[in-house]
Amino acid sequence: MTLTAQPALQPASKAPPIPAAAGENSPRLRVLLVGGTEPLRAAVREALAQTGRDAFDLDCVASLADAMERVRSPGIMALLVRYALPDSQGIATLDSLLQAAPQIPIVVLGDDLSPESFRQAICSGAQDYLSKGHWDSYTMARALNGAIGRKAVEDALFIEKERAQVTLNSIGDAVVSTDVDGSVTYLNKAAQELTGWDDEAIGQPVADVFHVLDAQTREVIPGLVERSMQSDVSLRLPANSVLVQRDGREADIEDSISPIHDREGRLTGVVIVFRDVTESHRMSRRISHLAQHDGLTDLPNRVVFGTQLAGAIELARRRGGQLAVLFLDLDNFKHINDSLGHAVGDEMLKVLAKRMGACVRTSDMVCRLGGDEFVALLPDIRHPEDAVRVAEHMLAEVRLPFLFDGHDLHISVSIGISVFPGDGGDAETLMSNADTAMYHAKASGRDNCQFFSQQMKLRAVERQSIEEDLRHALERDEFQLVFQPKINLASGQISGAEALIRWQHPVRGLMEPIQFIGIAEDCGLIVPIGRWALREACVQARALIDAGQPLEQIAVNVSAAEFESPDYVAGLVAILRETGLEPRRLELELTESSLMRRPEASTMTLVALSEAGVRLAVDDFGTGYSSLSYLKHFPIDTLKIDQSFVRDVVSNGGDAAIVCAILAMGGSLRQRVVAEGVETREQYDFLIAHGCAEAQGFYFSEPVAATALAELLARDPQHWGPANAHAREPGVKPVPPVSSPAPTALI
Ligand code: C2E
Ligand code: MG
Ligand code: MG
Repeated sequence: MTLTAQPALQPASKAPPIPAAAGENSPRLRVLLVGGTEPLRAAVREALAQTGRDAFDLDCVASLADAMERVRSPGIMALLVRYALPDSQGIATLDSLLQAAPQIPIVVLGDDLSPESFRQAICSGAQDYLSKGHWDSYTMARALNGAIGRKAVEDALFIEKERAQVTLNSIGDAVVSTDVDGSVTYLNKAAQELTGWDDEAIGQPVADVFHVLDAQTREVIPGLVERSMQSDVSLRLPANSVLVQRDGREADIEDSISPIHDREGRLTGVVIVFRDVTESHRMSRRISHLAQHDGLTDLPNRVVFGTQLAGAIELARRRGGQLAVLFLDLDNFKHINDSLGHAVGDEMLKVLAKRMGACVRTSDMVCRLGGDEFVALLPDIRHPEDAVRVAEHMLAEVRLPFLFDGHDLHISVSIGISVFPGDGGDAETLMSNADTAMYHAKASGRDNCQFFSQQMKLRAVERQSIEEDLRHALERDEFQLVFQPKINLASGQISGAEALIRWQHPVRGLMEPIQFIGIAEDCGLIVPIGRWALREACVQARALIDAGQPLEQIAVNVSAAEFESPDYVAGLVAILRETGLEPRRLELELTESSLMRRPEASTMTLVALSEAGVRLAVDDFGTGYSSLSYLKHFPIDTLKIDQSFVRDVVSNGGDAAIVCAILAMGGSLRQRVVAEGVETREQYDFLIAHGCAEAQGFYFSEPVAATALAELLARDPQHWGPANAHAREPGVKPVPPVSSPAPTALI
């Protein structure tokens, strides 16, 4: 765009109308003669009268004071002024009159003819100067009409200029104009504010006033004004222009530099129009940061990770290099949130994000995918072991205590690693395989890292398919219970039975708990499945009791997720009421580790269950690192010694010592102790010799269907007693209800 300056002396179209000069049919113009003798007044009056049709009226005053008084009231269209007044002399007279009535044009009636006098009068604001020899009618009328006309044009231009000034000052954009030499000729209010320069800028080199740098290179953007003039085209400022203000502060600016021309099209300089975009730049940077980062930890988000990973894969492919993806998931983070609140959880995530971020190089990247999931990209590794080193560093950092409210909180993380190109050639596969490896790390006891392997993939697919089938298993009535008796070692009687779930899968056959309970726990299906098992166990127990069988107690296994669900106690009480089983005949088996997940909450639930009359057992005791002080406070009736200690109790002194310690502890806390997994006569003898009250295991019976349990219950107590022990060897192993394939552990 090329700007052309407004013609300097052209009244704008909206300027006030110029009053018509005296002439035919025009109104009479009142002229005030200031000073002069009576003969002069008469001569002037005579001259004006001769202009025809009495176009001028003449008023006369003798002194400046009178003139000042007179011009204040309206009606005077022009002044004829003599320099010599009783109260003022020369140019000073003009000054006073112009000050009092700047709108009235002045024609000086001078004495001499010199051009100097003329110039002086004009420079002092007079419109015209008539020397003594030119006071004739024609010249005087012409001078007066000319003065009135010119004054009107000047006023119109002045108003127009003021309006342009007001307009330029009221627009938000800063405007600076220069002449062809690049000196500033004008800057509006916004430009003054933005540059920090006032009118002092006028005449200064534009590069001093409009001092612009490239934000990135910090170098002056050279010759923009010159280039605009040379090429005679408008130029835009580069996108990242920064204006250095007079006091050294900086502002992001944008806009353009355009050449300006006069009426003849000659270049007269440039006009620079610019505006402060610091705030909008800051906002857009903030918005784009928010779109790419996690709001809580300020780590890059999933979107950024995806892009970076895709780029890193391309680069590694071209260079023949390797990269690693680490998938990180905090262990049991939900419990931090549930027990201490989300504010503590959030704080912890922020701290952990920093710690994990500190474990990688600047060229690496740690992102938060959401929740307690993080992912790291190591775009350039030489060996997969490099990734292990980073993962181990992260494991150690996460393990460090987190101080909250004067307490040390502990958490760990499970990490899965996939490596390009071996574990996948695209971002999606690498992410998914690292995720699979992470699940494997969880299943391997958490707080460790695992490399992805194809075998894991197969298991993950298998796991997915089982989860899918589990969703329909309840409605298709595919679950069943088997029962394993517990033997009172002193009396030789069956003291109770443990209900153990089985899944009759339509394709896979009979499935053992190890193949599906973990999956059901992970996807939440354990809650309805557990409710079914509880109800079914109560129904079956009630039926056996009603049939006259001496079943003292039925035990049901409960997973942590069931036990922690808010309506667990109410649901259990409802099932007992519905099935009519006495609460004392129901024992719930909870593993040590599930009780210790949230010990405080566990205590409350256990107390509520105990008050409902239900018995409580700690299953797999000895494996969960229970805090003994909690154990003392839990209303526990029974400790079940984990079968791993019983297995080698005869051959392993350590296991024997643990079994003895648990027996002693149960004795002093008045808790029943049941030994699980008894398989041999030697184990049996050891337990008898050390005063164990009850036992359960293949030595007595494998888990059996309800009908088979009825048969076992009906047997003579002597059958289970020590006298008959040899006769039972190697244990009663009734055939399971449905033949099943060998169980495969699934992660
Ligand atoms: P658990 O509660 O510790 O149950 C004992 C497990 O040991 C049972 O395995 C049982 O068949 C097995 N067992 C019994 N005697 C012997 C023995 O002499 N030698 C050996 N090697 N094993 C023996 P099962 O039925 O496969 O159950 C495994 C686990 O699954 C159970 O361990 C329990 O934690 C869980 N489970 C079973 N049923 C349920 C259920 O209905 N709900 C929940 N939440 N978990 C269940
Ligand atoms: Mg159990
Ligand atoms: Mg057990």
